[in-house]
Amino acid sequence: MELDFIRWLVQRVSAQSAGACLIGDDAAVLPREQFRDCVVATDLLADGVHFRLSEVGPEVVGRKALAVNLSDLAAMAAKPRAAFVSLLLPEGSAAEIARRLLEGMFPLADQFQVQIAGGDTNVWRGPLVINVAVVGDADPNRVWRRSGVRPGDALVVTGRLGGSILRHHLDFVPRIAASQYLLAHYDVHAAIDLSDGLSLDAWRLAAASRCAIELDEDAVPISEDAARLAQISPQQGTAWERAMNDGEDFELLLAVSEAESRKLMLDENLGLPCSLIGRAVRGAGLWLRSSAGELREIEPRGYEH
Ligand SMILES: [Mg+2]
Repeated sequence: MELDFIRWLVQRVSAQSAGACLIGDDAAVLPREQFRDCVVATDLLADGVHFRLSEVGPEVVGRKALAVNLSDLAAMAAKPRAAFVSLLLPEGSAAEIARRLLEGMFPLADQFQVQIAGGDTNVWRGPLVINVAVVGDADPNRVWRRSGVRPGDALVVTGRLGGSILRHHLDFVPRIAASQYLLAHYDVHAAIDLSDGLSLDAWRLAAASRCAIELDEDAVPISEDAARLAQISPQQGTAWERAMNDGEDFELLLAVSEAESRKLMLDENLGLPCSLIGRAVRGAGLWLRSSAGELREIEPRGYEH
């Protein structure tokens, strides 16, 4: 299976925009740009744990496996360059699944000029397991960390949150373009991508920065899918609770100065909606400010791995 697959892959990769490295040698060689840091992210997804292959199909799984990694690079203000794909394939239809996984990945890779630069395949009797690692580069002085939030900062989130299980978690666009735009035009102090729910990821940002974050209850942007799900199954939470706690939004949560946040709220070039949802203050933990101005501490309730 491997030889045929590699042959197909080499052809397909050559068709990608001319890159500096190609599959075929013992290892990939990535040319280094001067004065840039190398930023690496990796993610492992398994059939039956993170997705059901029989329900969504290999193309969707391949796309998502790359997209979640690109979202992590976006959160660091890194520009993606190459991806490495390792597959543990179920016996029987291994070659077909491998091909379709990659076919699902290529359009997204092309969109963000990511070269599929290597990887490995093996066959076994178990379910599909896929690992994607991505390499990006970033300005060493301007990488966004979780630990950079300062008391007084404004908290801004891209997009609308919650209900991703309906479809967004499979077809989301990683916020690479927004991240590169923000990097060029704003001084972002800290960032995280929302993979496990706003409440948990905001709490993580606060903890890493050793400060407290206050979220304004009325400012949390609720997606249409969160509202729809709250109607379909109200026992599983209100639309607002879904926006706070549902995972896999893959939006960016950013800390910027108050002045920068005012500029950002009026910026029409970002290309996606953006909401000012709170602020950082001295202290610890995650706090919620009601419309009446009452403050209460809340427990993060997102998805824990
Ligand atoms: Mg992340």
